[in-house]
Amino acid sequence: MYRTHTCGELRINNVGEQVTLAGWVQRIRKMGGMSFIDLRDRYGITQLVVNEGDLNTVAEKLGREFVLQVKGIVAERSSKNGKLPTGDVEIKLLEINVLNSSLTPPFTIEDESDGGEEIRSKYRYIDLRRNPLKKALELRHKMAQEVRKYLDGIGFMEIETPVLIKSTPEGARDFVVPSRMNPGEFYALPQSPQTFKQLLMVAGYDRYFQIVRCFRDEDLRADRQPEFTQIDCEMSFVEREDILSTFEGMIKALFKNVLNREFSGQFPRMSYTDAMKYYGSDKPDIRFGMRMTEIKHLVGGKDFAVFDSAEYVGAICVDGAASYTRKQLDEITEWVKRPQVGAKGLVYIRIAEDGIKSSVDKFYTPAELKTIADAVNAKVGDLILILAGGRKKTQEALGTLRIEMGNRLGLRDNANYAPLWVYDFPLLEWDEETQRFYAMHHPFTSPKPEDLDKFYSSNKDDVAAVAANAYDFVLNGTEIGGGSIRIHDSAVQKRMFEVLGFSSEEADYKFGFIINAFKYGAPPHGGIAFGFDRFCALFGGQETIRDYIAFPKNNAGRDVMLDAPSQIDGSQMDELFLKSTVKK
Ligand code: ASP
Repeated sequence: MYRTHTCGELRINNVGEQVTLAGWVQRIRKMGGMSFIDLRDRYGITQLVVNEGDLNTVAEKLGREFVLQVKGIVAERSSKNGKLPTGDVEIKLLEINVLNSSLTPPFTIEDESDGGEEIRSKYRYIDLRRNPLKKALELRHKMAQEVRKYLDGIGFMEIETPVLIKSTPEGARDFVVPSRMNPGEFYALPQSPQTFKQLLMVAGYDRYFQIVRCFRDEDLRADRQPEFTQIDCEMSFVEREDILSTFEGMIKALFKNVLNREFSGQFPRMSYTDAMKYYGSDKPDIRFGMRMTEIKHLVGGKDFAVFDSAEYVGAICVDGAASYTRKQLDEITEWVKRPQVGAKGLVYIRIAEDGIKSSVDKFYTPAELKTIADAVNAKVGDLILILAGGRKKTQEALGTLRIEMGNRLGLRDNANYAPLWVYDFPLLEWDEETQRFYAMHHPFTSPKPEDLDKFYSSNKDDVAAVAANAYDFVLNGTEIGGGSIRIHDSAVQKRMFEVLGFSSEEADYKFGFIINAFKYGAPPHGGIAFGFDRFCALFGGQETIRDYIAFPKNNAGRDVMLDAPSQIDGSQMDELFLKSTVKK
């Protein structure tokens, strides 16, 4: 037997027992003639003591991260370590068996490592020995088990779908795999199992889920991974309400069983229109207020051209920020002008003890400014920030400013959780550049039944106004899940492809299989998918998903440890009928 106990297991009541442990050397300290070794495994750290004598000669040759098997007697420690669960005891060693030596690790295996991102990625297997990463993976494991337990408990079947498939249109680029057996042809890796889960509904598996890897070849924005994991779900004979209540149940079970948090009552819900209007975002962070107010009707006609010419003028009231200095306000003004925010400038109104002051005093009387202050419920001590411009762009910019002010005022505490459902998204987005509609969610999302007439209209504005029977789950301002009630009528599906600008041949070539399947008794159905990595990160109170993935890629989509992607042999290229145009 390699070990009788783990390194996290021994307690005071084990004193006197002879035990065998195995693990890695965390650190060695020498004191007088004695050596103290901290032995570590997944479960914890146990202190080993080597008294004078032969064993000390062995102990002297040990280094960090050597792998040991040790035998000894559990003893009570004279100076106890309250921080360690095993801190009351130590093992007086009788035997040390070096199972393997180790090179000196390139960084320290402590909670705060001295190694930078790059080096830790290269030696990920060493980084994974560190506590924060171990905790992150444990949390992920627990989340996955809870999801399975919950969904299995209410009759969901976990069914695997293929990874080598034909392109699924989710709006991103596909990763493709050349087929040796079918020269010149390619598989695509799934951006999600969307079409398969719908085919499973046609096949009668009315409650499906899968914790599944998805692949999207996007330009990597911060904290995106080219491969990521979804909790992918689909149900038949359901309406939106059934989906929301089923998965609200799942999310509550996760909160309860993983974080020991309970939510009373239903999660809040908000329409897309309200989300944009009050938060300037389709994923509002409702941990704090600072809602946006449209004030165009209060500010026009005073010869202030910026407001007069703007389609939209909106304000937020920042509680208690009237004390912001001119310098701070200038800095915020510069901040909103950054391309990522995209505002042209910022107007402020300070509601100070000694009266109302603003950057537009030239145009507005104190009484007029007071009307604005009342409209946004500002009181003495508050600061009003105003942006003006085109409606959607300015709403979004104001929403971004709202989040920034939330950050600056410390209103976005990761220990707080504010779940939210957002529903009734637009079905389509018009793209000026390509002069065509794109599906806002994906092309299988059903229009709201009351909008079907508009959906079939030949007027572009009518079509643009169609609402989708789609919903997102948002947690703390992050979209964690999204789904919809699907189209299950092949005629409506055909119309969708037509609206998206596919010729009927193109639609048949790409999606013939699903249009056809819908002709064989497709039940009404709908579903949702959750971004599992991000869900875990939020539950862990972290912003970055990388720690919650055992072997992630870096921001350039590279696996630094494997040094992938990489070139392949010429012969392998020939076999796949490939030629590269890149000279290396
Ligand atoms: N397949 C969709 C996605 O990945 C989710 C869904 O509609 O169920 O966003």
